[in-house]
Amino acid sequence: MNTLSSLNLVKSLENLNPETPNSQATYALISVHGDPTAEIGKEGAGGQNVYVRELGLALAKRGCQVDMFTRREHPNQEEIVELAPGCRTIRLTAGPVEFVTRNSLFEYLPEFVEAWLNFQQQTGRNYTLIHTNYWLSGWVGLELKSRLGLPQVHTYHSIGAVKYRNVENPPQIAAIRHCVERAILEQADCVISTSPQEAEDLRQLISQHGRIKVIPCGINTEHFGSLSKQVARQKLGITPDAQIILYVGRFDPRKGVETLVKACANLPDSFQLYLVGGSREDGADLQEQLRIQALVNKLGLKAVTVFTGRISQALLPAYYAAGDICVVPSYYEPFGLVAIEAMAAGTPVIASNVGGLQHTVVHGETGLLVPPRDFQALQSAIHKLLEKPILRENYGNVAQNWVQSRFSTSGVAAQIDELYQSLTLSTFVQEIIQRQKLTPELEKQIQNLLKSKVLKSSEIKALEKLIDSFSNGIVQWATS
Ligand code: UDP
Repeated sequence: MNTLSSLNLVKSLENLNPETPNSQATYALISVHGDPTAEIGKEGAGGQNVYVRELGLALAKRGCQVDMFTRREHPNQEEIVELAPGCRTIRLTAGPVEFVTRNSLFEYLPEFVEAWLNFQQQTGRNYTLIHTNYWLSGWVGLELKSRLGLPQVHTYHSIGAVKYRNVENPPQIAAIRHCVERAILEQADCVISTSPQEAEDLRQLISQHGRIKVIPCGINTEHFGSLSKQVARQKLGITPDAQIILYVGRFDPRKGVETLVKACANLPDSFQLYLVGGSREDGADLQEQLRIQALVNKLGLKAVTVFTGRISQALLPAYYAAGDICVVPSYYEPFGLVAIEAMAAGTPVIASNVGGLQHTVVHGETGLLVPPRDFQALQSAIHKLLEKPILRENYGNVAQNWVQSRFSTSGVAAQIDELYQSLTLSTFVQEIIQRQKLTPELEKQIQNLLKSKVLKSSEIKALEKLIDSFSNGIVQWATS
């Protein structure tokens, strides 16, 4: 008689218990265009880079081995960077070793796949799961999944159908992107939506099929909440009585900086506007930054506006803490890390009522939500908070607690690790089902259990029970 326990499945299940740190798993996070170790805050480097890096570090802290794969963009870049024990960035060569915009990267993806497979072969590393980020990496993941049968988890970070919804002439790549985004949803083992809004968009605009699990983005709340306002202002040379309106992010028309600048013109209060973010010398973001600078000058705001340039993650907590209000005026925002980073620093947020921001900023509790593109509504909201310091303080305190309880990296990584473990288990059991000849009823029973949805801890326990009964000889394999 052959039992599942003889194949050590019960032991493996013990290792896969989601409540305990996961010391067995080796995960590949793939982020073709978003290097987790890049300088954040310029074209091509924003929230995705931070998401991947923070997730990798948090998983490694839980005992997992994590390799984060990205594309090499400069000859001086090291191929392998160890960020922490168990967490590395691996830069693969695919296409020219220089910055390439996202819209031009698709043609180099087959090279990326080959480079990934070569790396795996040369190092003998066995990955148990791949987690892809953005549609370009999603394509790579589908390819690897079909060749190696690895379970694939995907995070979209942005959806073409939403991004181009009101765009008259979308780039040529948009049609390919749409097909790939649909294939990912239907074929990956699970897609992570970072907000309920994104899950709804995927269902309505991409496909009715495929698994979706909502897990928000996480941030290092301790890092962003590490400074008091007083200390932060001393550090940055800002006087205690200044009223600071803060924007943090890339220069991209969809970020809505134009609406913020217009809202600040004719604001009755005295204030300073800090625009934090950099641009590439030859990038599209430089054009946008120059356009905003011209608008600032035209509206007579030059004397009160500070363009800080790109600020490192190490120094950003000081800016968030020094601000009286952080404004996130985006027209479209899949998640919006900046909003939770600001709230973690105890700074209330005024954000557009779009995408993930509707779920991270609680209107009337952690800040205010206003309609996108409406500079007058934004102006009233800014005025309301600038003239009421106590309200600001209350919102800031609630915001800090809210972010700590919902969006800390360790909590988010635990949820993602649990998802990985359930999918790894599912693949593992499928392999066993294929290797062994089961009675049709037994196979059906197990298949149903696995198909039910992404397994939760309670379901893993149910499966464990079933397997226990195999080991006790109650259920027997059909022998050949
Ligand atoms: N950021 C930074 N330095 C800057 C400006 C922005 O490190 O000068 C970071 C910011 O802390 C945040 C990310 O860039 O983590 C922006 O992420 P978000 O999700 O808000 O927007 P995205 O860039 O993904 O559209």
